[in-house]
Amino acid sequence: MGFHNVSREALLGSATLGLVLITGYYVGRSRSRLYGMDVFKSHVGGKDNPVMQYILDHSLREHPALKKLRLKTLEHNLNFMMVACEQSQLMANLARLIKSKKAIEIGVYTGYNALSIALALPEDGKIVACDVSEEYTNMGRPFWKEAGVEHKIDLRLQPALKTLDELLTAGEAETFDFVFIDADKQNYDNYYEKSLQLLRKGGIIAVDNVLWGGRVLNPAKGDLDTKAIDKLNKKLHQDVRVTLSMLPVGDGLTLAFKL
Ligand code: CA
Repeated sequence: MGFHNVSREALLGSATLGLVLITGYYVGRSRSRLYGMDVFKSHVGGKDNPVMQYILDHSLREHPALKKLRLKTLEHNLNFMMVACEQSQLMANLARLIKSKKAIEIGVYTGYNALSIALALPEDGKIVACDVSEEYTNMGRPFWKEAGVEHKIDLRLQPALKTLDELLTAGEAETFDFVFIDADKQNYDNYYEKSLQLLRKGGIIAVDNVLWGGRVLNPAKGDLDTKAIDKLNKKLHQDVRVTLSMLPVGDGLTLAFKL
């Protein structure tokens, strides 16, 4: 049934991805195309690519409520902000692999990834979901409930730094297993440092948008978001507190494993 099975809507994007996978990083890509948002996401920059279609056809296992939330989010004008389904599944598998019970998500949007992680947590697990938008997170709530994991998602509608500080004050340092950072880019380093304090040894911090549509290659003057991402990328490369992988998944995903 081809990609219709997974949903055609999931593929709003993919011509770039296959080429990147096949020919390697950016070889032969024009700058204008490269610098678009979300170079590799299945539903944005990676749409219409047969290799991405194959990947999804042969690997995506999406809970029915997750699929519904994805399709609902795709109707929204900011859907490029949604974590790609293939990336979300990777992170859920990593959370499972390290037997995560406590997770944090910084930047929830409509809650597709929060739901995906919640489904990977045990019944008594919890994900502290940090966002400032009641409107967007309200789009996800019915699907969290439908999936039967609403009780695992602890949504905190206030600036994420405040929530992270509250967790530290509450004595929860070194108790979290998995953190996903995907909010305002200029606070990325602050999120990373506080997350690292909250994370236990062997835990994982996943940082989204580390390629930022390719703009990290040559940050434009005054582009503070790109500069913040590039700065954190450079810092992480040298950070002896973690081991590291940077993956060309979605819009670039860094995985930092706490030593
Ligand atoms: Ca993102």
